[in-house]
Amino acid sequence: MERNARESGKQPLHLYAIGIGSNRPLSRHLTPRAIVHAAMAALDLPPFSVVARAPVIVTAPVGPSMRRYANSAAIVASPLAPEDMLGRLQELEARFGRRRYRRWGARTLDLDMLLWSGGAVNCRRLTIPHKLFRTRGFVLRPLAAIAPRWRDPATGFSVAQLAARLRKTKAVRI
Ligand code: ATP
Ligand code: MG
Ligand code: MG
Repeated sequence: MERNARESGKQPLHLYAIGIGSNRPLSRHLTPRAIVHAAMAALDLPPFSVVARAPVIVTAPVGPSMRRYANSAAIVASPLAPEDMLGRLQELEARFGRRRYRRWGARTLDLDMLLWSGGAVNCRRLTIPHKLFRTRGFVLRPLAAIAPRWRDPATGFSVAQLAARLRKTKAVRI
């Protein structure tokens, strides 16, 4: 007889598309790229496991800031519900030296939930799909490499379509 997940002691797994970013080194060796790789490794330890990892995109520093950006994405499976997931991701950010939660400031590590297998979440601390993921090439490009067919529940477009649309609008602007 088939037993359901609760009876068998197994919790159902959710899938999360996580955007990973860093634009501040922790040390000479822990560059933004190394931090993104280390964060991927941390996301592969319980209560997480990495199902797919995107290549890391590094943008060369421009202008006087000399700031290098590294971005990637991962599909992570976990039994944690979104609110608990947010807490664990913020713990991870803090472990990687992220001190202040100033939005858009320089940070050693940023872990954002872009999409999850349960659809949409809208509460005070959390919005999934991530509010700005459709407008960010540095988020959509890595995500499209690992989850091109995942559909955005808000627009109905797949990640590949969102990435193509963004490329087009950028081309028109140029
Ligand atoms: P952005 O959201 O524009 O990428 P950010 O990642 O720099 O900015 P943070 O300082 O990391 O912003 O987070 C600010 C707050 O955003 C968090 O405290 C969290 O409560 C909230 N938040 C809302 N939706 C999400 C989400 N999908 N993933 C992660 N954090 C979220
Ligand atoms: Mg962010
Ligand atoms: Mg964030």
